[in-house]
Amino acid sequence: MNAGPPLRILVVEDHAPLRAQIVALLAGAVWRVEEASDGRLGLQLALQQPPDVLVLDLGLPGLDGLQICQRLREQADRYVPVLMLTARDSLDDKRLGFGAGADDYLLKPFAGEELLWRCLALSRRGELGRSPLLQRGPLQIDRRSGEVCYEGQVLPLPRQAYRLLLALAEAWPRTLSRSELQLALWIDEPPESDALRSHLYTLRQGLGSAHSLIKTVHSVGLRLDVGP
Ligand code: CA
Repeated sequence: MNAGPPLRILVVEDHAPLRAQIVALLAGAVWRVEEASDGRLGLQLALQQPPDVLVLDLGLPGLDGLQICQRLREQADRYVPVLMLTARDSLDDKRLGFGAGADDYLLKPFAGEELLWRCLALSRRGELGRSPLLQRGPLQIDRRSGEVCYEGQVLPLPRQAYRLLLALAEAWPRTLSRSELQLALWIDEPPESDALRSHLYTLRQGLGSAHSLIKTVHSVGLRLDVGP
């Protein structure tokens, strides 16, 4: 169904048994699931690394679901599809939810399967309007074909080096930590850290004269240096 890396989903729900149930349900499918029980942490996680779908409870400590949704729409650097979960079923609550930027609504209690279907449908929405071509300064990446061009010249890169470059380009202008880079490469089981170093070396070699685009940010990680 999904040939690329697993889809990332963030579940923000303060009711621990329900959160555990949702995480177990989604983790068995095509997702890589992160979770938060508090509104502030949920927003922070969603902004740091925008997920492919956010499953968001309405009543939360810290920030409520409406506030999270609003701030996400204002501050996230990409569109995050939001599925709001709530026991409230009045028309007014739905109006507020959609008004705050929710894409979909699911009333508790719900069938696990329906949550899955809706999350999959929402993950496709995130692709809408996303060009396969990613331009970062003189660097162009075609996410469909996997072709990388620098100043119009094709740079053939091994698969893992390409994944590193794509992760850096998609995150730009943010700096990626070592663990995020490892995740971009191996998703489920990060191998020893030396492997990351060797793929980075391959990437720099493959970039040739463009190798200086990969900047080390001391004690933080790496970023793509293509302007401000
Ligand atoms: Ca709640």
